[in-house]
Amino acid sequence: MKRIHLQGGTVVNSGSSVVADVLIEDGCVVAIGKNLVVEDAEAIDCAGRYVMPGGVDVHTHLDAPMMNTKTADDFASGTRAAAVGGTTTIVDFALQAKGQKLEDALNGWHQKAIDKCAIDYGFHVAITDLYDGAIADIEGLVRSGVTSMKIYMAYKGAIMLDDGEMYEVLRESGRLGAKTCVHAENGDVIDRISANLVASGKTGPENHALSRPPATEVEAVNRAIAVSRIADAPIYFVHLSTGGATEAVAEAQLNGWPVAGETCTHYLTLGPDLYDLPDFEAAKAVLTPPLRDSNHQEALWRGLNNGTLGIVSSDHCPFCFVGQKDLGRHDFRAIPNGGAGIEDRMRVMYGTGVAGGRISLEQFVALTSTNPAKSFGMFPTKGFVGIGADADIIVLDPAATTHISAATQHQALDYNLWEGWTLPGAITHVFSRGELIASNGRFVGREGHGNYLARSAV
Ligand SMILES: [Zn+2]
Repeated sequence: MKRIHLQGGTVVNSGSSVVADVLIEDGCVVAIGKNLVVEDAEAIDCAGRYVMPGGVDVHTHLDAPMMNTKTADDFASGTRAAAVGGTTTIVDFALQAKGQKLEDALNGWHQKAIDKCAIDYGFHVAITDLYDGAIADIEGLVRSGVTSMKIYMAYKGAIMLDDGEMYEVLRESGRLGAKTCVHAENGDVIDRISANLVASGKTGPENHALSRPPATEVEAVNRAIAVSRIADAPIYFVHLSTGGATEAVAEAQLNGWPVAGETCTHYLTLGPDLYDLPDFEAAKAVLTPPLRDSNHQEALWRGLNNGTLGIVSSDHCPFCFVGQKDLGRHDFRAIPNGGAGIEDRMRVMYGTGVAGGRISLEQFVALTSTNPAKSFGMFPTKGFVGIGADADIIVLDPAATTHISAATQHQALDYNLWEGWTLPGAITHVFSRGELIASNGRFVGREGHGNYLARSAV
């Protein structure tokens, strides 16, 4: 029976912080208190450091086929990178292929992940093809612990659902107590703008942002909220990038409607200047929706602060610059859409958010861990340093710094959008169910440690 005694750190949860010891036994937290007297335990001095719940990242795409290629991280490299970055739970999107049964899509994702993960993992199922009987098959997913679906309002002819199909998924998921996650962009309009740009010779990667103006997101968010009201179902917006979308969510919440939204690390911290990079390098920032200007960034930070947006995810969807992004060298529409950040999310949010004076420590924990665990049926096992919870814990030294570089990252990627950034704060220890899996930027865990999480309806 292994016992670990975290001594004298500041234990931070989403609601409070207190200087205390934490005792871990058999993978769980069994005691929290001042100056615990413990025998036969490995003691770790946490004085001056923060002891916090490990990160919960509910938006990742590992080993996922997309746009004639597949994402660069599989479940081994992706969860290793997550671990080093302080994330101890992910919920990944199992993507239904055309004509594939929902259950088969889910089973396919189980096969990709089993025996590979360094951290615990769950799945959403992204519904892209409503075959006869698909709606009735949602119930089987929910029974197996997949309590959230995803649908796309963009990528017409590939994975987009129309409004009627969106209505059906919302209604059935709502009836079952499951959540519908929505990628909200007006796919029809975006396809027209994109075609017009290419027809006028504008084929470079910088045109990606022009093809998806802010209003394409705002319109889709408002439309989806209206459809969710007709379906009488809760709705959750992934990767919101604009002030207008944040306002639409806030207004719905004021009406008392079950409307929620997340944003992502990159929308808060990176701007459209990356689309000015020369020599096709702008393709590195071709992700969807695109990066927005500082007015939108400020609106998103405000949304986090006033509670409109409750979750910050990575939307980790990595494609290498060489060999993948360059599939679209002659037409930006063929550039695989996606950025990386499963390893960077916690450090960037701490460094820019907490150390940058934009959010409190407790808000940091809420946004990166507790709220996602609560919203997706994993709390209080995850997202909480408390007695009986899984000992998924990070120790963060606020006096140290973290340097981000592609040369040292664990993501299987040949670039990093935060290249060269040095951020206040460093995660010194990462525990998953009481096992040390990362230490000072080094991975010390093992493939196959991670367990599948059957999630409850919320
Ligand atoms: Zn995504």
